[in-house]
Amino acid sequence: MGRVMSRRTAISVALLAAFAWASEPDGAGLEPGQLPASWISGGPNCVSVPDWQVHEYNDNFYILRESGCINYEKPFLYLIFGEKKALLEDTGAGQVQTAPFVMSLLEKWAKKTNHAPVQLMVIHSHNHGDHTAGDKQFQAMPEVQFVAGTPAEVSKAAGIANWPADPGTIDLGGRVLDVIAIPGHQDASIALYDRKTGNLLTGDSLYPGRLYVSNFEAYVASAHRLAEFARTHNIAHVLGTHIEQSATPYLDYPRGTTYQPNEHRLELTRANVLELDEGFQSMKGTPEKLALPEFTIQPQAPRQRANAPASAKQN
Ligand SMILES: [Zn+2]
Ligand SMILES: [Zn+2]
Repeated sequence: MGRVMSRRTAISVALLAAFAWASEPDGAGLEPGQLPASWISGGPNCVSVPDWQVHEYNDNFYILRESGCINYEKPFLYLIFGEKKALLEDTGAGQVQTAPFVMSLLEKWAKKTNHAPVQLMVIHSHNHGDHTAGDKQFQAMPEVQFVAGTPAEVSKAAGIANWPADPGTIDLGGRVLDVIAIPGHQDASIALYDRKTGNLLTGDSLYPGRLYVSNFEAYVASAHRLAEFARTHNIAHVLGTHIEQSATPYLDYPRGTTYQPNEHRLELTRANVLELDEGFQSMKGTPEKLALPEFTIQPQAPRQRANAPASAKQN
């Protein structure tokens, strides 16, 4: 009896050891990083709010947030460093000095990492005014590689042969980003996937807030393509370009809010990518508003699209 028990125990221990080995998290080969539990939104006292909040996810992946005191859209920008190039996604909203600030970050990065200066490449999550306000500042700098927010220019820069069906890539030197065309919120919308960190940047097409649909058919197809991508890749975090949602499920801050003391975290997950696709599929071809705990799919009526002033469409 005692011998049988001990054999069983030995087998159990061996099985447990095997399971422990099999399930031991290895990070899926991704470079880890940290995200803050909360961000500065803007206010309540704008005098003491910095124009930019910079968060180092890790040494070579920065997240910038523009202050809501400059513009209520308070967008997030991404600055990713490779061996040869740094990529900036988006240039800000409203009256903002983005270029001098980003160039100073490049200098600080080079000093901190003891790396030779790298060339800056500027690209856009999509071509709406709250993500392109600093474009002219960068276009005036000949040393910067500026990619305009059009399907043609993005396709050229990322080697996309057939927009939007085919993916492309951008090589920053030892760091490759996948470029997935996801039109629907806007014609030139893209997602960027950083193979190093596993972070998926989804722009205004998926973030904790109101996802405005301008081209329904295109958005449905894009959400499906993005879900297929998420199914076959390790996604660490899904990072968009705004936070409009509060930490309370289904509850968002009204458009134009500057100070959001209880806002949702920036990061969404791979599951939310699948949820977006599922949400669109559930509409069966007819655009409708769909509120989910962490974001809302918000089709824009054709009448609104045609008559709304430019500022109301840009989000
Ligand atoms: Zn937008
Ligand atoms: Zn936006």
